Amino acid sequence: MPPAPHSVRGPREDVLKSQIKLGTVFGVELGLHYSWLVIALLITFSLVAQFHSVNRNWSDVLVWGVAIITGILFFACLFAHELSHALVAKACGIPIHKITLFLLGGVAQIEKEASDARTEFWMAIVGPFTSGVLGLILLALAWVCGWAPRSQPATPGIALLVWLGYINLALGAFNMIPGFPLDGGRVLHAILWWIMDDAERSTRAAARVGQVIAVLFIGFGILQFFQGAGLGGLWLAFIGWFLLQAAGATYLQVQAGALLRGLRVKDLMSTDYTTVDPNTSLQQFVHEQLLRTGRRCFLVVQDSRLLGLITSNEVRTVEPQAWPDTTVGAVMRPADKLHFVSRDMPAMEALQIMRQEDVNQLPVMSDGRVDGIVTRAHVLQVLRSRAELNSPPTLPRAA
Ligand SMILES: [Zn+2]
Repeated sequence: MPPAPHSVRGPREDVLKSQIKLGTVFGVELGLHYSWLVIALLITFSLVAQFHSVNRNWSDVLVWGVAIITGILFFACLFAHELSHALVAKACGIPIHKITLFLLGGVAQIEKEASDARTEFWMAIVGPFTSGVLGLILLALAWVCGWAPRSQPATPGIALLVWLGYINLALGAFNMIPGFPLDGGRVLHAILWWIMDDAERSTRAAARVGQVIAVLFIGFGILQFFQGAGLGGLWLAFIGWFLLQAAGATYLQVQAGALLRGLRVKDLMSTDYTTVDPNTSLQQFVHEQLLRTGRRCFLVVQDSRLLGLITSNEVRTVEPQAWPDTTVGAVMRPADKLHFVSRDMPAMEALQIMRQEDVNQLPVMSDGRVDGIVTRAHVLQVLRSRAELNSPPTLPRAA
């Protein structure tokens, strides 16, 4: 099975929330997305088949035991790879969210992009480097334990070390393919950035190369499938499809950044927001405000102090029978859990926060007062209008 890819920071991570939390290492939260279970099972089954073929005399219990331990260690190696990205990012002053393993590998959710080519380069290359070094250490260990290269491992322990060694080398090599947002694509991006001295143009170029490589992956995977490679071919095509999406999204994000350049939150925010008292019952709130005004978001305010925010999402968490006895204040999203933006924040940054936090609106605050509210729908509408005016007029089709 081809090794799983992963990216330092792709647009897809926005929707990738870790659902199973494992713990915290060096201040970085480690977690699993449910889709990880699929890859964990696939890897365990392929390891069982592999170890069965290595030595037919090993018992089923032994083979399964070694396969499961090897699988767990493989994911530990993947965490080590992602952690190396995260630690370099931290050393460069870039805040780190968490590391999540999912169907196609792992992602280090780093809060913002590198601000210069050098940081981007080191942040990207450290991952494949870590996997490569890990691979060499594991193979050296196997060799110390008596394994001769190109021979079948004699003991389950050696089989484990050899498989982990090769898979880490493969992981390092695979991720150096210059298909943005793979690590290699980010290294390419850093080099282009350094040569062109233009963050935007270099990202666009790297994303374009990434799209080409993704299409090659898909084509090659499908070809392999029809030549009898089975699941391996389809898997490669699937990875290609994922990369194509991610590269396309990055391209769009750069375009969006260019279109929104110069715009700040204060240019896009609406000062025409509605408020509700925290002691209002949900019943009254729904019938007198939510259903009448057609607005989606209400600020919960008492004595001109912002206490929180309520949308139909919060209302839906309560059964309608309980609405008369539940107050707005009991179900609102409290202010300490809300993200605020300032009037002078660039519009693109606000859009990114909404994506990251998966919210549709952000209150705009200055000096502890609410100035207005900025919504995702409005920002996207402005983006669309700007894109329409920037696009070249359509040419009449030749007869
Ligand atoms: Zn990586």
